[in-house]
Amino acid sequence: MSSVQYKALKGMQDILPPDIYIWQKVEAAAREVFSSYGFQEVRTPVAEATNVFTRSIGENTDIVEKEMYTFLDKGDRSISLRPEGTASVVRCYVEKNLHTLPPPQKFYYTGPMFRYERPQSGRFRQFYQLGVEAFGDPGPRIDAEVISMLRHCLERLGLKEIIFNVNSIGCPECRPVYREKLIEFFAGGLDRLCPDCNRRYRTNPLRILDCKVDRCIETRQGAPKVTDYLCEGCRTHFSSLLSFLELLGVSYIVNPDMVRGLDYYTRTTFEVTSKNLGAQNAVAAGGRYDRLVKEFGGPETPAIGFAMGIERIIELLKNSASHDFPRPEVFIAAIGELAARESLVMADGLRTRGFWVEVGDADNSLKSQMRRADRLSSRYVFIIGDEELKSGRLKWKKLADSEQGEISMFEISDFLIQRS
Ligand code: ATP
Ligand code: MG
Repeated sequence: MSSVQYKALKGMQDILPPDIYIWQKVEAAAREVFSSYGFQEVRTPVAEATNVFTRSIGENTDIVEKEMYTFLDKGDRSISLRPEGTASVVRCYVEKNLHTLPPPQKFYYTGPMFRYERPQSGRFRQFYQLGVEAFGDPGPRIDAEVISMLRHCLERLGLKEIIFNVNSIGCPECRPVYREKLIEFFAGGLDRLCPDCNRRYRTNPLRILDCKVDRCIETRQGAPKVTDYLCEGCRTHFSSLLSFLELLGVSYIVNPDMVRGLDYYTRTTFEVTSKNLGAQNAVAAGGRYDRLVKEFGGPETPAIGFAMGIERIIELLKNSASHDFPRPEVFIAAIGELAARESLVMADGLRTRGFWVEVGDADNSLKSQMRRADRLSSRYVFIIGDEELKSGRLKWKKLADSEQGEISMFEISDFLIQRS
């Protein structure tokens, strides 16, 4: 016997009952809300050729520089586990010629993402996202619809104290002007920025605005605001978006520091934060990416999307709401060989009608079977023995309040339906 102890990888977790029921609730709510806005599910592979991600997310981003799970497959091809969903969906959109379908094309996805980050509360190496992408509409009306859809989804889940941060980071026409202004602003303060931000200063100075290091936050006080440098087109787009958000009753704050950690965004960006999480307080984030489909070899196609981090939403729900977890409707306790056979048939019949039914082990005493029913929190227990087999009438007991009675074995399903 080997004494090796097997453990899940650092930053990767098993998700078990009862938590899994909260996961299912989140997924079901999202599916329902997304469907009501006409978004349809797509499933793309969890691995892609590495350049699908490097090209789109950007060579000089944290994700590509340090966080990707990249390896050579047996054919010496560089493969990466997806660190996010948008790049894969865009690759699929172009590869499958979905741009030939009438716009807008609206999709959602869910599944695991992989980033080699330092695991901590709210930050995992395998984490799940639920995301949406809408192709072919330049906005800003659809931007507002997408943000409102996210709001509905989070509200449906009962999440409170969430804040919608919105921003516009401009387009290839106006962003270079702003970039120059930032470079000027930080030029005199490089020694006060962290090493990462010194690098960002050369590669992508906007990203300095996103840095969480205290001295960088201090140094960037008074930095020029991107919203002051938007071109006419971006300014109109942004102000219309804000008015549509007001129309739809989405409360938001304009946060000009919110530039997002991926290179592909243009114009609208947004992030939803919660007051009830620690340092990792972003529960969802997204934005417009009008150039990405073209980058992938498709026709020029405006697009917008977001992704929600499921673990962080689960964390909030676990702390805020009480949860009604599923439990067996019926436990059949059987005494004797014949009753044991009948209990199997009864259970099967009830299960085909959709009830969760557990069958006691007739080799054990009635008392021990009742204990198991209790442990499972079964709603009802039905007891069957030789006498019940003869008379066709069973004793039932409701465990919560010990209410009890007798019923014909052919009426159990009606009884359960009436009482549900
Ligand atoms: P953060 O600022 O928290 O690192 P991000 O900007 O890297 O987030 P996105 O790439 O926009 O995140 O992903 C969208 C959402 O996915 C985030 O708002 C967050 O809820 C979730 N998320 C991102 N990285 C992780 C992770 N390592 N573990 C758990 N959830 C994550
Ligand atoms: Mg991150």
